[in-house]
Amino acid sequence: MESNNSFVFSSHLPLRNLRSTHHVVDGYNRGMRVLLFDIDGTLISTGGAGGAALREAFRNAFNVVEAADVPFAGRTDRGIGSNLFREHQIEDSETNWTKLRNGYLERLPFHLADRDGRVLDGVATLLEELSKLSQVAVGLLTGNTDRGARIKLSHYELNEHFAFGGFGDEHRHRNDVAKAALQEAEQYLNGNGKLEHVWVIGDTPLDVACARAIDAKVIAVSTGGHTAEELSDAKPDVLLQSLADTERVLELLS
Ligand SMILES: [Mg+2]
Repeated sequence: MESNNSFVFSSHLPLRNLRSTHHVVDGYNRGMRVLLFDIDGTLISTGGAGGAALREAFRNAFNVVEAADVPFAGRTDRGIGSNLFREHQIEDSETNWTKLRNGYLERLPFHLADRDGRVLDGVATLLEELSKLSQVAVGLLTGNTDRGARIKLSHYELNEHFAFGGFGDEHRHRNDVAKAALQEAEQYLNGNGKLEHVWVIGDTPLDVACARAIDAKVIAVSTGGHTAEELSDAKPDVLLQSLADTERVLELLS
């Protein structure tokens, strides 16, 4: 299909969204779909690299022998930091958080290279197919810090697919990340095309909960740390074993 770029969208959108005039007009009339993907357990498994880097950074920055066993899945990095500070009676200040975050970001690439992580089944193909759809805007809704998310996604060559997102640098609760992600999506669309559907795709009950906080629909995938039964209790709109069935997922999301 050819493109003559009749500027229904503003020019800052990636070229892939302008590939087909037909689609652009279609997309405008039908409204835009915004897809907000979680990272860990949904797109990739880092083989524990993120957790290992954060724990090492914590031990190193605060002279701690072993970091307390606080939950990571579905949490924001800022929230995990707060929990660690509380467990170890360390002041939950911005200075201490910055110290922890910097140490973590410094170590993360080494841990990613060191671990046996991977892109989860079907993810690369799905993102490739989604990038061809002009009425679909693909972003992130993650507890990772902005930089941490980009380091992880770059390591697995997925970063180019995500133009915007909500991140866990400041927000201790995932629901607040969801609100930030939605704002970023609206800014990204910049008034071009009505935002019609928002989907959150994630692997924990907290992903389901944060989708509800922004009136989004949600696909839960049991490729992370939670079983299908646990996710089912959270009542997602759709529950999948993985994102491997590209046709099915595209049908749901586009
Ligand atoms: Mg996750």
